[in-house]
Order: sequence, then C-alpha cells, then structure tokens
Amino acid sequence: MRSKSVDRRVLVTGGAGFIGSHLCERLLAEGAEVLCLDNLFTGRKRNIAHLLGNPAFEFLRHDVTVPIQAEVDEIYNLACPASPVHYQFDPVQTTKTSVMGAINVLGLARRLRIPVLQASTSEVYGDPQIHPQPETYWGNVNPIGPRSCYDEGKRCAETLFFDYHRQHSLSIKVVRIFNTYGPRMHPNDGRVVSNFVVQALKNQPITIFGDGTQTRSFCYVDDLVEGLMRMMRTAPEITGPINLGNPSEFTVAQLANLVVEVTNSRSTIAFRPLPQDDPRQRKPDIALAEKHLGWAPTIPLRQGLERTVSYFERLLSETVSGEDASKKGHHPKSPPRLVS
Ligand code: NAD
Ligand code: UDP
Repeated sequence: MRSKSVDRRVLVTGGAGFIGSHLCERLLAEGAEVLCLDNLFTGRKRNIAHLLGNPAFEFLRHDVTVPIQAEVDEIYNLACPASPVHYQFDPVQTTKTSVMGAINVLGLARRLRIPVLQASTSEVYGDPQIHPQPETYWGNVNPIGPRSCYDEGKRCAETLFFDYHRQHSLSIKVVRIFNTYGPRMHPNDGRVVSNFVVQALKNQPITIFGDGTQTRSFCYVDDLVEGLMRMMRTAPEITGPINLGNPSEFTVAQLANLVVEVTNSRSTIAFRPLPQDDPRQRKPDIALAEKHLGWAPTIPLRQGLERTVSYFERLLSETVSGEDASKKGHHPKSPPRLVS
C-alpha cells in the first residue's frame, strides 16, 4: 500500500542507465516512489545499488519492447542505448526499443490516463543545416545510414507521442536532449566525454575523430535532470518538443585540451577517421525551455568535467585489475566492450 507521504509513483524506463539513475535519485529525494525498469543492456546495477535499500525504490528487469503492466502516476521513457557505439551494435534492436518501447509506454499511459515524457534527442536534427537548432527545424537525417536506427527510431517515437496526443488526448512531454555527460557514464561507453576522461586519466592517447573541428554543446547531468522534472510539471498544453542542453559550444579539439588540463594528464592526441554521418555542429536553441520551464543550465563545462573526473578516478581505482564488478547481471546481448 502507498504511504501517505508519497505524492506520486513514477515509472522510469532506462532507470539503471546514466541519466536514468540520476533521475531516479532526484525523484526519490523529492518524495516520489520510483519503479525503475531496465533490461541492463547498457545500464548497470551499480548505478542504482545505493537506491536498492530504499523502500520507495523498486527495480524491475524488463525490456520495453515487451508490454508493461504497472500502476503508476507518471512515466519517464528513457530506455534506449544512447552512445553511437552501442546503438549501432544491434541496430534492429535499437529501432525496436525506440518504436515498440514508445508504443508500450504510450499504451500504458493511455490505460492509466497519466502523463508520459519521452527522452528524445538532438539527433532528430541529424547533421543540421540550421545553427543553433530551434525546435521548429525539421532536421537533416540520413534515413539509411549507420546512425538511422537511433535517429529515425527517435523520430518515429516522437510521431507516436504526438499521434497519441492528437488521437487519444494523452498528456505528452517530449524533450530533445543534447549531449549530456557526468558521473555514471559507462567507462567504455564510447561517447566523447567518457572516452577522453578515461584516456586522460590513464595517460593514453586521446582519440579525436576527424580533425576535431566538429562541435558539440555539453550539458551536465544535474542540469538536464532538473529540466526533465520541470518539463513533467508543466501544464498539459506544454507538450514540447523542447530542447534541453547547454548552449555553450565547443569543438571536440577544445574538449580534448580541457580534459587534459583538468586531469593534468600526459596524454597526447591521436587522430582517427571521422565516423560516417557524424554531425558537423550541434548547439541547442533553448529559448523555449527558458520560457516554459524557466530553465537554463547552471554548470559550466570545466566544473562539470571536474566532477566527472572525480567519479572516474574513483571508478578506475576500484577496477585497477581491469575487472569490472558491474559486469555481473548484465544483459546477455550487451556490447562486448561493456561486459569485459
Ligand atoms: P544509457 O545507455 O546510459 O541509458 C539507457 C538505459 O536504457 C540503459 O540502462 C539501458 O540498459 C536501458 N535500455 C536500453 N534498451 C532497453 C530496452 N529495450 N528495455 C529496457 N531498458 C533498455 O544512456 P543515457 O545517456 O542515460 O540516455 C538515456 C536516454 O536519454 C536515452 O533514451 C537517450 O536516447 C536519451 N538521450 C541521451 C543523451 C545523452 O547525451 N546522454 C542525448 C540525447 C538523448
Ligand atoms: N568523438 C571523438 N573521439 C571519441 C569519441 C567521439 O572525437 O573517442 C567525437 C565524435 O566523432 C563526435 C563527437 O565526438 O564528433 C561526439 O561524439 P559522441 O559519440 O559523444 O556523441 P554524438 O554527439 O556524436 O552522438
């Protein structure tokens, strides 16, 4: 039975992942009961280990491509691998996760008549020809390339969200998340911030793909989670899509230099080929988030990197032997780099 002090019960799909675990933590801190659903494809039990003893927290190992039964008051749908290396590992499963996952959470939300938030992505803009990217921009996405399973899967999920809203009057919240980083990214995640920080801490060459002039805008995870929660609390007419990200734009080479500086590393730079369809530039226009959510990021890149570096320093010192205790209980089809 639900305790009187609990104001709501929240389902977080992908809750054992990087962003999801921070969201679960924040929701619990605000007095919610949290049902964390995850198949541990890229997420890890260690991300939520500190929450398992909390009676308001429950973990359900489940795949979002399979229909979900739960009694909850709101849903955050985050389940989907986010790193290009991982979403391209099993691209068919990636599309299924976005599309069937969306259908399943929308079906549940419709049955329960509750709001549902979709973690969409700046990737819906593809390799953007408009800069910075406002929500009105329809994007420049290759429908048949190696990134399409993720980009088109997320675009189709947005379509489903808006069709459920129009057809069934469902309360939806769609946010387009731009590159987010912070503690609990997987050390072998393959994304640029975790790659650079781990390489720098090990004094290994920093792998810049291409010439390093491509840009990204990096948002610290605490800022992002604040934006997600504000979005859920907005009035029903605020459906989004709304961009959430940090508009401070950096080249990948600038990021590499900053990471070397913050870690005081002896790493050198190693240039590697640029992956196919890698977007040239990316920066969110966050005017809508500022207007509707009163939200803007507060944590500058250097400060966020310092916190991220501290996390990885601790993690690497726990796993000096190369053994990662978190591999226990991983998904049987997780990408090899995540489980070895
Ligand atoms: P992550 O890989 O750490 O987390 C994703 C979680 O979803 C993992 O715990 C994984 O095990 C779980 N998952 C994957 N497939 C599943 C399935 N079929 N059923 C159940 N669980 C499944 O990635 P993240 O960075 O925390 O991303 C969370 C969400 O935010 C994703 O939907 C992602 O697309 C979106 N997003 C993230 C970023 C970013 O920069 N981190 C940017 C844009 C969008
Ligand atoms: N990148 C890089 N070195 C790495 C990993 C990534 O130079 O070790 C580049 C990548 O080519 C892209 C940018 O960093 O231009 C961001 O990559 P990430 O995979 O983090 O996210 P994306 O924004 O491409 O989804």
